[in-house]
Amino acid sequence: MGHAVLIAAELKSLLEPDQLEGLDVTWITADEPTPRGDYVAMVPLLSRWVGGTELKHLPRLKIVANCAVGHDNVDVVASELRGITVTNTPDVLTDATADLAWALILACARRVVEGTALVKSGQWTGWHPELLLGLELRGRTVGLFGAGRIGQAVGRRAAPFGMRILYTARNPRPEFEQETGAARVELSRLLAESDVLSLHAPAVPETRGIINADTLRQMKPSAILINTARGDLIREEAVAIALEEGRLGAVGLDVYLDEPAIHPRLRAAPRTVLLPHIGSATLETRRQMAAIAVANLQAVLRGDPPLTPVFR
Ligand code: NAP
Repeated sequence: MGHAVLIAAELKSLLEPDQLEGLDVTWITADEPTPRGDYVAMVPLLSRWVGGTELKHLPRLKIVANCAVGHDNVDVVASELRGITVTNTPDVLTDATADLAWALILACARRVVEGTALVKSGQWTGWHPELLLGLELRGRTVGLFGAGRIGQAVGRRAAPFGMRILYTARNPRPEFEQETGAARVELSRLLAESDVLSLHAPAVPETRGIINADTLRQMKPSAILINTARGDLIREEAVAIALEEGRLGAVGLDVYLDEPAIHPRLRAAPRTVLLPHIGSATLETRRQMAAIAVANLQAVLRGDPPLTPVFR
């Protein structure tokens, strides 16, 4: 009999049988509540809240191996108090997510979605010198709110586009600055000077609602706002109002406060590119995320240290 573990059923086809050796797996789908029982480990998706109540109902649990780099769906403090390890899946999704942030930047800057809609509608009347004029990126400024793994990867991709890079983070990143010419600035300067503002900080109390009516007023009316981090960082209604009133150039979002629900006013607002949380959605990356989550679980069940703990 193997170790009794819970694994998100949606990961099944991304995993090989040898990765599951020694495990007695109960597969749980995202719409099922977290079961109670003597399970010793779990691999949840980011849509599953794992809080004090869930942990209380899993008294033998040793590890929550979250299948995401963000871990705002897990009560890390409650886990730590119960001696439960929490792990995430950093690094393997950095390039895929940075690529998607750039897909949103380019789609917003060059009005790709509006162009597609026009062609498909049959209303396109031919080349016109002022049709769907967009934002020239060369010489413009990209601002990164958070310059960790993904923020820096987005910044490195900005250099070949000829963009100036500003960033906000609590700790300076001298190597990143040397490599890209990026400059660390206060939030007020980041807001005022960014032509493209891209969010890459985690959802923590200090970052929740960082983009709100007040900070939006400090941004250029032509600015493009990109969020591939977490929906908690943005007040969705305030963003919708800024778009409606022409006080924001465009918005490209991959994440939302209450997924899969989106504030109706934001869904209806002009100049948006709205994606369904697909930042890390390449087959290679999703396989690696599942593999790391299960490798963390196997390590802890063997009595070895976890590979990628959230806190050491
Ligand atoms: P990371 O390497 O931990 O970087 C996070 C950055 O945020 C760091 O620069 C950190 O720098 C900064 N930060 C942390 N707390 C902050 C605060 N209170 N105020 C301002 N900055 C703060 O994480 P990552 O791997 O780049 O991932 C970034 C986020 O992207 C994750 O939290 C995740 O939720 C999200 N994500 C989304 C997708 C998707 O599918 N759309 C995919 C992957 C990741 P300092 O500590 O120096 O401040």
